[in-house]
Amino acid sequence: MIRFPTSLTELEPAAGGSAPVVRAGATDLTERRRLRMAAGPLLDLRDLPGLDTVEPDGTGGMLVGAKLRIAELAVHPGLAAAYPGLCAAAGALATPQIRAVATLGGNLLQANRCWYYRNPDERCLKKGGAACLARQGDHIHHACFDLGPCACVHPSTLGMALMAYEASVMVHGAADRTVAELYGDGSDPSRDHRLEPGAVLTHVVLPPPRPREQAAYFRTITRARSEWPLVEVLVRLVMDGDTVSLARVAMGGVAPVPLRLPEVEAALVGGPASAEALAKAAAIATKGATPLPMTGYKVDLVEGTVLETLERACHSTPSLATPSSGSLPEADEPPTPNPQGGA
Ligand SMILES: Cc1cc2nc3c(=O)[nH]c(=O)nc-3n(C[C@H](O)[C@H](O)[C@H](O)COP(=O)(O)OP(=O)(O)OC[C@H]3O[C@@H](n4cnc5c(N)ncnc54)[C@H](O)[C@@H]3O)c2cc1C
Repeated sequence: MIRFPTSLTELEPAAGGSAPVVRAGATDLTERRRLRMAAGPLLDLRDLPGLDTVEPDGTGGMLVGAKLRIAELAVHPGLAAAYPGLCAAAGALATPQIRAVATLGGNLLQANRCWYYRNPDERCLKKGGAACLARQGDHIHHACFDLGPCACVHPSTLGMALMAYEASVMVHGAADRTVAELYGDGSDPSRDHRLEPGAVLTHVVLPPPRPREQAAYFRTITRARSEWPLVEVLVRLVMDGDTVSLARVAMGGVAPVPLRLPEVEAALVGGPASAEALAKAAAIATKGATPLPMTGYKVDLVEGTVLETLERACHSTPSLATPSSGSLPEADEPPTPNPQGGA
């Protein structure tokens, strides 16, 4: 059965019924249903109004609807002016075809890409099995920060980017939470996020932008396009003269959840953005790495990818935005998506 609610009040599940499976762009869900990994009644968000907008949140930040297509997010002038790293990340993920259909909410809540998990004939830890099959088998694309029983890496580029923007999410009928809380610490092997079954994520809340922020997104990948990253990083910097006054660094592709790197941030703040300082900070990014037998190579990529992203952020143009008080900031030209990232 498929339901197409036309208002939020229609989202409540029927009394006694099982929680429906929410469908947005369906680029991930359809594949999992074909593989018999996701079943049950569908709740399709297609006809739900008001969830594909970008508007001021009244506190200087922005409210972005969960149904906003990734392609639209990538080139939205108001978002690009205020949150350039987020738009760069959106423009670099997946393929133009996927970005045209996939949504912000679906990206945040997509399932991981572990080949054992996605194999209908395998019963891994995430599907109720006794062990993580990747851990004992082929895990070459898996975690090098081994945080939990499951060795997969989290797939969401936008989840990683929103960690760097300290964003939160609004959930219909449940408590709002930060993006970091949405994912947790990776210790629950049964799920890729902590949203309650059947709950609908309605909006992402972006805090007020920092004036003159410099940002960059960069991914290390095995081929130029159409690929999940081995390591991906988003850096935000604010400079006060020659001194870094704010740094936010997040990393994906390395752990079961996207990671914030507070020690790298702390190493940057209060000092110059010199080549030496950036290299020192990038080296700190590998601290705590616990690679599996096949993922030691990723630890080298972590340092290189963080350094590259830091350098790109330092050379990027400062953003135009100031906290929005009712109207969206405007950019002269929407950015052109770059397949590998730079903002
Ligand atoms: C070749 C290829 C490369 C890719 N590379 C990347 C990449 O580099 N980075 C990356 O991040 N992704 C990548 N992807 C994955 C792609 O971005 C996701 O499939 C897409 O973002 C999912 O969005 P969707 O709207 O289609 O979600 P759906 O398929 O509709 O849903 C995905 C999941 O989210 C749930 N869901 C969706 N919306 C909501 C909501 N509002 N509330 C509650 N639950 C909801 C669904 O129930 C489902 O479980 C790649 C995909 C392909 C095919």
